Amino acid sequence: MGKKYYEEHKDEDDECIKEITAAVLRIKEISEDIMQKKGGKACPKCGALVKDGSKFCSACGEKIDDIFEE
Ligand SMILES: [Zn+2]
Repeated sequence: MGKKYYEEHKDEDDECIKEITAAVLRIKEISEDIMQKKGGKACPKCGALVKDGSKFCSACGEKIDDIFEE
């Protein structure tokens, strides 16, 4: 099963699609956990590591200062 299949069928009520969706969310959680351990967070736009206190993403320039609020 490829990415194209997933993109076309992700809205369907299918066990395989649910499993993939869950896996994608899990990967995202793990990624965010790694970002926090490195002292930053994932850019909401491109997913690159943004150091704590940075106002803009160094990769894409997205303004990200508000994501550091608790
Ligand atoms: Zn970015």
